[in-house]
Amino acid sequence: MANSRRVAVIGAGVAGLVTARELRREDHRVVIFEKSNQLGGQWVYNPLVETDPLSLDPNREIIHSSLYKSLRTNLPKEVMSFTDYSFVEKAENRKRVNFPGHKEVLKFLNEFAEDYGIIESIRFNSEVVRVEQVEFEGNRWVVRSKTDEFSSEELFDAVVICNGHHTIPRIANIPGINNWPGKQMHSHNYRVPEPFMNQIVVVIGDGPSGLDICQDIATVAKQVHLSARSSEAEVSKLGNSANIWNHSKIDHVDESGVVSFLDGSSIHADIILHCTGYKYDFPFLETNGIISVDHEDRAVGPLYKHVFPPKLSPCLSFVGIPYQTIVFLTHELQAKWIAQVLSGKVILPSEKMMLVDVADHNRHLEEDGIPKHHTHCLHPHELEYMDWIAAQVGMPPVGADLKEMYWSVYKCASVVGYDCCRDVWDIENFTQWSF
Ligand code: FAD
Repeated sequence: MANSRRVAVIGAGVAGLVTARELRREDHRVVIFEKSNQLGGQWVYNPLVETDPLSLDPNREIIHSSLYKSLRTNLPKEVMSFTDYSFVEKAENRKRVNFPGHKEVLKFLNEFAEDYGIIESIRFNSEVVRVEQVEFEGNRWVVRSKTDEFSSEELFDAVVICNGHHTIPRIANIPGINNWPGKQMHSHNYRVPEPFMNQIVVVIGDGPSGLDICQDIATVAKQVHLSARSSEAEVSKLGNSANIWNHSKIDHVDESGVVSFLDGSSIHADIILHCTGYKYDFPFLETNGIISVDHEDRAVGPLYKHVFPPKLSPCLSFVGIPYQTIVFLTHELQAKWIAQVLSGKVILPSEKMMLVDVADHNRHLEEDGIPKHHTHCLHPHELEYMDWIAAQVGMPPVGADLKEMYWSVYKCASVVGYDCCRDVWDIENFTQWSF
């Protein structure tokens, strides 16, 4: 127990749960703060939406989850397991549902928390409102939290931030939008298609959510126009759909209600739906400028390998910052790394070397012309990243079968889109793999 630390984990989503398990495996003492009344984070579907459909009103009550009712995962459950806790074994219907719905994911997480006795470490309805290092207490961290009844301050040896990053919307910047008379919404506030009945809808963003939501809305809308990031895309029908069109980026909108695309086409639309992603946000974190968060450009830094801020490590760390990866596995490997660093089994490089590594990462992005808002996008190096962390904690690299399955889904999605990929891939592949 010599290196057992008292650790605060902020959030009881996938990241917080697996982090708690790994910390406890290393004999650390864990308190998980969870602001809501249940575990699961994004996977807790909430039919309520925020009062401001674009989520710009600073006084709105924030709803955490962005899940829509019809959501199925964009990765098969084999790829949403932890290394030693299989989604497949827990699944209700192995053959027919390779891409489970959100309820099944939430059930899986609840079972995981129960089986590892994590629930007893969670303080529900406890929102962390301040995290700060206190020098006079041996550089420990003070965590201030509040419930409906009271607020409290406690000291911890370390803090792991697992608060998720799919809650605060990023909105597309569209020339002319201030005079455009139609409605606007962000996908964070999308739940069901019915409000779009007989409407002409422009969906911005062709990521997994944008594609899913297009298909969902097209069941009731008059027309759906999907505006992709690319400026080269030409107007065309999407797949076999009768009422969905692909377009390039929006060029501008005007006061008559028309939306004009760079492909030369234009449409009189009723609503623009922004499926344009989310910002990182740590409203409780005070580091005197050591860590900066660029909300518009989606970058948190400096972070060594997206986990440790060099100057404050190892006692402050983040799980779940990178995206375009195998999320559950990446969270688990990051958590193992943090747990072993805190117990002294694994030693981090010096602060200077970590800063050099971060600078190298940023320089490579710049040299390759990758915009700053992709700072934490792991693709196409996600498996390399996971293997690197696995090596730090003495684990074997990600298994060849899993890698192959992940790439095969990825390739399938890039050819037919995430929405169609689930059905094509289900039919063609569900018998091939044995985990
Ligand atoms: P979250 O799940 O967001 O959990 C964070 C937790 O922290 C929440 O419970 C929140 O209440 C709590 N919290 C936040 N702030 C505080 C505070 N101040 N004090 C106390 N508690 C706090 N991933 C996949 O692997 N497969 C998919 O198919 C997939 N589909 C997705 C679809 C959508 C629409 C979205 C939005 C995301 C999807 N994801 C998917 C990504 C998903 O976010 C991750 O799977 C995972 O839920 C991230 O877990 P997390 O713990 O990092 O964050």
